[in-house]
Amino acid sequence: MKTFQELPISDKILSALKEAGYEKPTPIQAQSIPPAIESRDIIGCAQTGTGKTAAFGIPILQRLSTETYSREPRALVLTPTRELAQQVMEFISKYGVHLKLRTEVIVGGTSMERQINALKSGTDIIVATPGRLLDLQRQGHIRLFKIEIVVLDEGDRMLDMGFIPDIRRIMRLIPKERQTLMFSATLPKEIERLARDFLRDPIRVEVSPPSTPVAKIKQVLHPVDFQKKETLLDHILRSTKVNQVLIFTRTKHAADFVTEFLTAKGHNVAAIHGDLSQSKRDRTLKNFRSGDVKILVATDLASRGLDIEGISHVINFDMPESAETYVHRIGRTARADADGVAISLVEFKDWEVIQTIEETTDRTIPCEIVPGFEPKTISKLAAT
Ligand code: AMP
Repeated sequence: MKTFQELPISDKILSALKEAGYEKPTPIQAQSIPPAIESRDIIGCAQTGTGKTAAFGIPILQRLSTETYSREPRALVLTPTRELAQQVMEFISKYGVHLKLRTEVIVGGTSMERQINALKSGTDIIVATPGRLLDLQRQGHIRLFKIEIVVLDEGDRMLDMGFIPDIRRIMRLIPKERQTLMFSATLPKEIERLARDFLRDPIRVEVSPPSTPVAKIKQVLHPVDFQKKETLLDHILRSTKVNQVLIFTRTKHAADFVTEFLTAKGHNVAAIHGDLSQSKRDRTLKNFRSGDVKILVATDLASRGLDIEGISHVINFDMPESAETYVHRIGRTARADADGVAISLVEFKDWEVIQTIEETTDRTIPCEIVPGFEPKTISKLAAT
């Protein structure tokens, strides 16, 4: 399938895609949309940045727009984080801009009242995180008996965040006669089990092998002593031509520390992590998206799913604990057709995880010592 026009989708959706600047389907869209429109269940193995939101969003819109209006929600998308839910809602609204379908985001950390009111006035599509959805369902504000199509987005991330029991609870509340689509960057055993329990004869689609970093990303490791990391970070930000930068730290505390340090050095920087209120998180993300904030320091809360085109550089101030998280972090750059750079500040203790990353991704990451920041520890890294 080479064009969207070849798909059995309405002119209204086609013109929205054209307005969004999409010329042809991405591979995951080409593989998923035709069977999804024929109501098949799908298990999709795809990284973020592949266009998977449209791969499930378009079939949802097509299905719902051909049926009569009902006040009860008919499609449900479950995502692991509030930010991703918001982003999925925005994409679906964009693709459905010429349709009269309502989409509501149901996530924790924001006013229940507003969500309850929106639900009362009727909605067609719900994009939700599992906890708040169950809360509102238990209180009788959400009824799921008319759901015809369910999407589980970022399945492996849901697993990491401990959401599988909640997802099982939610799936039991939805009619058995339904279509289920599941997307996950990797397919660990628990996700395969979930698919076996809740998907019916699914079609498997896969666009790039799991845990392979986007080939376009230029990766580099800078060995450095722990005590000099923030000064090196400042040095990199001053000496490199960057557009927008996403910096990852392991802890909330480190995120605040790095943000304060860079602010004191005169950088335009903000932090995002789980200890901040949802409104603060939303505001920060909005400012980063618009380019008003140039540097965002984040915990892994922001490592998945977020799609911000301007990110030219991802910097691992702290290395993540797993190769999988590394791949997802660096996938925040080189979105759509842009190039990206992923820089990691590595301490001696990070050697093991780097080996795992190199093995998993089947490539060697170049290692460069920055003059003036030579590590005191005789590092195996430096020797490579
Ligand atoms: P996603 O993987 O859904 O987060 O999408 C990643 C990025 O690709 C987003 O910026 C989308 O706007 C963009 N995108 C999705 N589908 C297409 C397409 N068919 N053509 C061009 N860009 C697309």
